[in-house]
Amino acid sequence: MVAGLSDEMTMESVEAFRTRTRAWMASALPSVEDPPLDSHALQRLLFDNRFAGIAFPREYGGAGLTLEHQKAFFDCAADLLRQVPAGYDHLVSVGMLGPTILEHGSHEAKLRFLPALLRGDDVWIQLLSEPRGGSDMAGATTRLTRDGHVYVLNGAKMWSTGAHVADYGLCLCRSDWDVPKHRGLSTVAVPLRGTPGLTIERIRAASGEAGDFCQEFFDDVVLPTENLIGEEGTGWAVAQTLLLHERNAAGSIGYGHLGPRLSGEDPTASDGLLGPSALLAALRHRRTNGAVATKLANAYIESVVGALTSARIMAGLRVGTHRGGWGSVSKLQASVAKHECIRTSLAALGAEGVIWDGADVRLDNAGTVWLGSRGGTLAGGSNEMQRNIVSERLLGLPREPSLDRDVPFNQVLRGLPAFE
Ligand SMILES: Cc1cc2nc3c(=O)[nH]c(=O)nc-3n(C[C@H](O)[C@H](O)[C@H](O)COP(=O)(O)OP(=O)(O)OC[C@H]3O[C@@H](n4cnc5c(N)ncnc54)[C@H](O)[C@@H]3O)c2cc1C
Repeated sequence: MVAGLSDEMTMESVEAFRTRTRAWMASALPSVEDPPLDSHALQRLLFDNRFAGIAFPREYGGAGLTLEHQKAFFDCAADLLRQVPAGYDHLVSVGMLGPTILEHGSHEAKLRFLPALLRGDDVWIQLLSEPRGGSDMAGATTRLTRDGHVYVLNGAKMWSTGAHVADYGLCLCRSDWDVPKHRGLSTVAVPLRGTPGLTIERIRAASGEAGDFCQEFFDDVVLPTENLIGEEGTGWAVAQTLLLHERNAAGSIGYGHLGPRLSGEDPTASDGLLGPSALLAALRHRRTNGAVATKLANAYIESVVGALTSARIMAGLRVGTHRGGWGSVSKLQASVAKHECIRTSLAALGAEGVIWDGADVRLDNAGTVWLGSRGGTLAGGSNEMQRNIVSERLLGLPREPSLDRDVPFNQVLRGLPAFE
């Protein structure tokens, strides 16, 4: 028999899985109205009942099912109003890093890293952007050097969300300076807690508080060679996979379907903003002037269109018509819609959104959220970069000109004379 065929033939149908899931959820998962359970505890609960990593192979701690089963699980949770792990760290770790390791890691790396990740014991984040800029990711200059049986890491990363509370970061670094930029990259797993030579600093956000962003400095950090994810020199492909999953997660697609679509959330309860359903209520019940009413209506329409776009891409993934960079469409749509939603909330809330109350800065209202609201239009690649992807990879338009694409990286001018 063809390898894998017996598994497929005996695989539980999505409908049977849905029925089993509903029964389990009704008794085992807390309602969204109950006091919130810690995200790690929830993830552990899912793992212990084989509902974590639903589309991951069983040998790596998953349930050995498909993305359709995963979608069914989280759709049931939304229907039954059950709590699921919702922290951003969880989305990044399970929805983005897990599938990237699954695709590029060696069998040993998957056995070593994935079960702990799916159990929620190890939280993973991404270490891609650098102080010199994030859009030109292929120009990374963090240096990975082989020294006998180990690697040595030097350089700096920036804007790493959640590094201060994570266990591992997947770091994009340059392992070969003699070849063109896309070909000299590698990705390596860096333990983030108590690692000699590693300094993690939190970055102060626009609101004035220490945010989730961090900057890391690597000063002769020694790593076992087994921490390499993918082959040496294939870091560009690994990072592309990671970003694909990040854009999918922003649109709640594929492995990133782990709860409600981001722009479809109603954040009213948590941060005083008007989410889509509250926008609709505001249209009906609030006294708004014509301009604000039009904005409210547009924001609501965007939120509905966004959810439908994601559903269409999900269906396309299933039947094979939407492979590759379609998550960029959804991510672009979601980030613009969410930003507009927040701007509209602020317009509707008026003075309630002011963050300075005369004595102190308030960090708990719509104004503060607005300060951070550009984030979604940058994270995972800026809107301009998403438009480039859509035009070049989906529409087949001409590539953006690049002067350094085919030049050995050590001959590329980087504006720093003493760089090497
Ligand atoms: C909320 C949030 C979370 C993040 N989390 C992480 C994380 O966990 N890990 C991580 O590694 N990074 C993270 N980032 C960083 C993010 O990936 C970068 O901000 C992003 O890639 C843009 O890089 P940059 O900020 O350095 O801007 P730059 O690359 O300097 O770009 C500046 C401006 O120029 C435009 N631009 C640049 N190149 C082009 C081009 N070729 N064509 C058209 N326009 C262009 C950009 O669109 C942007 O508007 C996060 C960012 C945010 C906001």
